[in-house]
Amino acid sequence: MRRLPIFFLVDVSESMVGEKLYKLEEGIGAVVSTLRKDPYALEMAFLSVIAFAGKAKTVTQFTELFAFHPPELPVGGGTALGAALSHLMDEIDRTVVTTTPDRKGDWRPIIFLLTDGYPTDNVTPALERWNRSYRHRVGLVAISIGGGADHTLLKRLTDDVVVFNDSAQDAFARFIRWISMSIQSQSRSVSAGQDGKVNLAKAEPGLLVPVESAAGLAPFAGVDDRYAVFVGKCAKKKLPYVVKYERHMGRMEASDPVLANLLKTRRYALDTAVPVKHSYFDLSDTVGSGQSVYSEDLIGQPNCPHCGARFAMAVCGCGKIHCVEGEGEQTCPWCDKIGIYGTAEAGDGFDIGRGRG
Ligand SMILES: [Zn+2]
Ligand SMILES: [Zn+2]
Repeated sequence: MRRLPIFFLVDVSESMVGEKLYKLEEGIGAVVSTLRKDPYALEMAFLSVIAFAGKAKTVTQFTELFAFHPPELPVGGGTALGAALSHLMDEIDRTVVTTTPDRKGDWRPIIFLLTDGYPTDNVTPALERWNRSYRHRVGLVAISIGGGADHTLLKRLTDDVVVFNDSAQDAFARFIRWISMSIQSQSRSVSAGQDGKVNLAKAEPGLLVPVESAAGLAPFAGVDDRYAVFVGKCAKKKLPYVVKYERHMGRMEASDPVLANLLKTRRYALDTAVPVKHSYFDLSDTVGSGQSVYSEDLIGQPNCPHCGARFAMAVCGCGKIHCVEGEGEQTCPWCDKIGIYGTAEAGDGFDIGRGRG
């Protein structure tokens, strides 16, 4: 039987943390349950999920549809698209059967690349290898989530680059439906013997925007400026967590006068604080962003998502972030030094190193 290989190459960098990753996780599950009801897809689709942040890793091995379990997506620091592409090409070499004169191989693989940030590694070698040996025989759909990706670079990988407007109503549910429909339409056309270009389903208006008409949606370069992301470690459990602040860009309004005043002077509001596993470090590159955010630009102090301590944004003299219950002595879980913590008064702001999202 000729298989239809499908790869999801998913950016799991810090800026994806929170709702976006939960919805993607759910979304992959929803794609699978939809496809299982489709006799064409059920017969030929094989899926794999590769996650990448500062490094890339296969989180679900290439598996036939009925045996596929949607993975829990990890989180890491960095957006190493070059490493992700290299890993993908190695996986294609390892799993996809090519056609030879005496053997019919698998159908043309479809890859859904989902990313929301600029690459943090050197993509050129992987890009050259891709264009030389893979581009002509696979279908890659590059999806820029919220328009945050490097569209010029994605255009050098594939003709199919779309911007996913993730703030549209029911955006994720509709997006997931579009992915399922695209896979279904591709399974139909290969059953009919057409193994050409990927047959993407028609997207609902406003949800997916061709990159050419989305210029206004991509204002950021380098460190993703839409979010300020920090990596902390729980002082009690020694486990990492990610704290994400979102830039409000005038989009937030407050009826409370105190908050309204804060919004005028501060740039980022607390979005979420989520526990991550030690695998965070396996998927992160070692280089920091070298960028920092002034503490007074941040609104909101989360609790520690591991132990519930009141302050998850305490900063040690070593520059790292951890949780504390209140004022007084506390051992830093990163460097093991004991520090004495107090509350920063207005005007006492300091710089906090940020992740690369
Ligand atoms: Zn804690
Ligand atoms: Zn420390």
